[in-house]
Amino acid sequence: MMKDRVILHVDQNSFYASVEMLRYPELKTVPCAVAGDPVNRHGIVLAKNQLAKKAGVRTGEAIWQAKQKCPGLILIPPDYRRYIHYSRLARGMYYEYTDRVEPFGIDECWLDLTGSPSDDGAAVAEELRRRMKDELGLTVSVGVSWNKIYAKLGSDMRKPDAVTVITRSNYLDVVYPLPAEDLIYVGPATTRQLCRIGVRTIGELAALGPAYLRSVFGVVGLNLYAFAAGLDETPVAASGREVPIKSVGNSLTTHHDLYTEQEIKAVTYMLSESVTSRLRDAGMAARTVQISMRDYELHNFERQAPLPRPTQLCAEIAPAATRLILDHFEKGQWIRSLGVRACNLVPVSQLNQQSYLVQEARREAALRLEEAIDHLRTRYGGLAVRRGVSLVDRALTEHDIKRENVIHPIGFFGP
Ligand SMILES: [Mg+2]
Repeated sequence: MMKDRVILHVDQNSFYASVEMLRYPELKTVPCAVAGDPVNRHGIVLAKNQLAKKAGVRTGEAIWQAKQKCPGLILIPPDYRRYIHYSRLARGMYYEYTDRVEPFGIDECWLDLTGSPSDDGAAVAEELRRRMKDELGLTVSVGVSWNKIYAKLGSDMRKPDAVTVITRSNYLDVVYPLPAEDLIYVGPATTRQLCRIGVRTIGELAALGPAYLRSVFGVVGLNLYAFAAGLDETPVAASGREVPIKSVGNSLTTHHDLYTEQEIKAVTYMLSESVTSRLRDAGMAARTVQISMRDYELHNFERQAPLPRPTQLCAEIAPAATRLILDHFEKGQWIRSLGVRACNLVPVSQLNQQSYLVQEARREAALRLEEAIDHLRTRYGGLAVRRGVSLVDRALTEHDIKRENVIHPIGFFGP
């Protein structure tokens, strides 16, 4: 039997708020939140400190809601350059243990320690937790497991400043009782569907088996099964050491080869959704989209294309990525792995509003909608929050764009 992989998922806790408290220690004594565009009532809470959390402030909720719960809440505008700086310092530390480091957003990374000199996952996790506090003054929560999905679950289970180890001997007790929506990729729509068939926990999801899940969810069902049962084998992609946060990407090894355009499209949308959600979190827009495919013979293929204008919209990146993939997809080809990457990033704050928001109202509305979805996922989706199966959301998109168009002028992005 092959030896299990040793995978860590490291999550910097309340990252933006923690960085602000390093800079302004007096913030530790008041409830505070980093929030996008505080002048605009539609801005949302991006991160909050412990005191704000105690007052009921939630990440992803609108500023006006947070203020209602916590009138004394101090709002801080995001300073992405500073966050990127600390994000790089943290990654530098991870690279001391392995060169297989896959960033997930600005404040999370997977590390694959398999075969590296220090491959005792729990020990490295403890060391990282301690060093992060001593050397950077920040806290992390770390999940350790044999697959990326469980490692991510682990980092979410106990925080801040904690390590959770999920092993073959404890996962039935530790993972299986968790709500199914804690799984990555399980968004609100999937959660509702799972509820309808009586599934609440990850264990119940795994128990349904691959064939049944496929009959309900299509090709995505097979991945759901693999995620729930700890069978995911998606590798930790060693990427971007020299250029952290110059790109945001996501790839998925599907648990059944994709061979129809429909399936490819579904997975591409799902990936684009999570990529653009992370772009929005990081305040970045992409000027280039890149796709990668690997077929059943393990041929790798990569292509990129410029986007007509910088964007952080799934509604623009997903069709571009799909086109790029389908242009190079040959009928009869079986695709095993797909990736979508947003490259050539530029901070939204540096973009000239005029050039960014060509067709302002429509793009603005689409952005607002996608942020609302991010927000819903944050609230209801656990860690699946930034992701989900996207075809379901398209109906929603069209519906809301019409409505939002009437209400919102431009002016969201601030100075
Ligand atoms: Mg975090």
